[in-house]
Amino acid sequence: MLLDNHGRIINYLRLAVTDRCNLRCFYCMPPEGIAWRPKAELMTYEEMLRICSLLVNMGIEKIRITGGEPFVRKDIMQFLTALSQLNGLQQINITTNGVLTAPLIPELKKIGIRSVNLSIDTLDRNRFLAITHRDELPNVLATLGQLLHHDIVVKLNAVVMDGKNIEDIIPLVELTKNLPVSVRFIEEMPFNGEGNHYTNLLWDHIRILNTIQEKYPTIQKIADPPFSTAYNYQIPGHKGTVGIIAAYTRSFCGTCNRIRITPQGVLKTCLYDNGVLNVKDLMRAGDSDVDLQNTLLGAMNKRAKDGFEAEKNRIGHEALHESMATIGG
Ligand code: SAM
Ligand code: SF4
Repeated sequence: MLLDNHGRIINYLRLAVTDRCNLRCFYCMPPEGIAWRPKAELMTYEEMLRICSLLVNMGIEKIRITGGEPFVRKDIMQFLTALSQLNGLQQINITTNGVLTAPLIPELKKIGIRSVNLSIDTLDRNRFLAITHRDELPNVLATLGQLLHHDIVVKLNAVVMDGKNIEDIIPLVELTKNLPVSVRFIEEMPFNGEGNHYTNLLWDHIRILNTIQEKYPTIQKIADPPFSTAYNYQIPGHKGTVGIIAAYTRSFCGTCNRIRITPQGVLKTCLYDNGVLNVKDLMRAGDSDVDLQNTLLGAMNKRAKDGFEAEKNRIGHEALHESMATIGG
């Protein structure tokens, strides 16, 4: 079992396989002028498999594939197939925007993917275009249909943004009436390539819950699964559930079980740090597996106690402004 210096279990890796994306979500990256990382700076699939295999040997049980948009990277299905064959890895989950995903779902199911997070901030085609700068809502909805059809567990992620999708909160909650999905509302974080969009967080988890409770006064708190980052709720009689993720308020750090690796191989032991080491550079410098494992253990022993400490200790005291596409969410 892998433990950090605060006694927290680390069993979950979020691996961002690319910084590229086919959408331009307002809260994640600017609409144009993005400087993609040169391909040579991104980890190869061989490097990703090596680091995943080492981490699985050390205690990682679950890997989430994210990005950027994972399905824009060439040969991603071959990589997922190879990853699914790693001994000891119990679960592979994926976070996707759903634009290219629908036709791949039967194959994903065959590989053994049982749970997918689908990002969908609105059910309105015009608002989708305004938020993502691309007219792709029909493809995202097709992905939702295919996921349900293939009995894959679905979590729908919606970032809550003042002036952009507040009118979508209730329609998204209403999806839980007939669909067995978990709709999760996420506080907006300043990881958008620019910095804060608002001087204060206008839609925190409390305001989001109050808005839902006004319409659904009978909504009930339900048990949060272990290591959940969401506060979970259910409306009596509904098939699905509602989650609220206090991503900016950071109320879940005490049980944080996750680490992240960016497409460039930067290891982040907290969402709010700006990297503690680069595993790709170490591999390319010729480190052995034992060297790498020792370095990784060292990093786990220096984890910040929470996102506020990690933010304070950012190298160079750099502000929080990097794009979420380079972090993976
Ligand atoms: N492209 C995929 C997608 O959109 O699902 C995977 C990568 S995306 C960076 C992962 C998650 O991060 C998405 O659910 C997205 O909504 C969320 N996200 C991106 N930028 C965010 C921000 N500034 N604040 C909160 N969540 C954000
Ligand atoms: Fe792309 Fe996902 Fe970022 Fe949207 S949130 S721009 S889909 S990486």
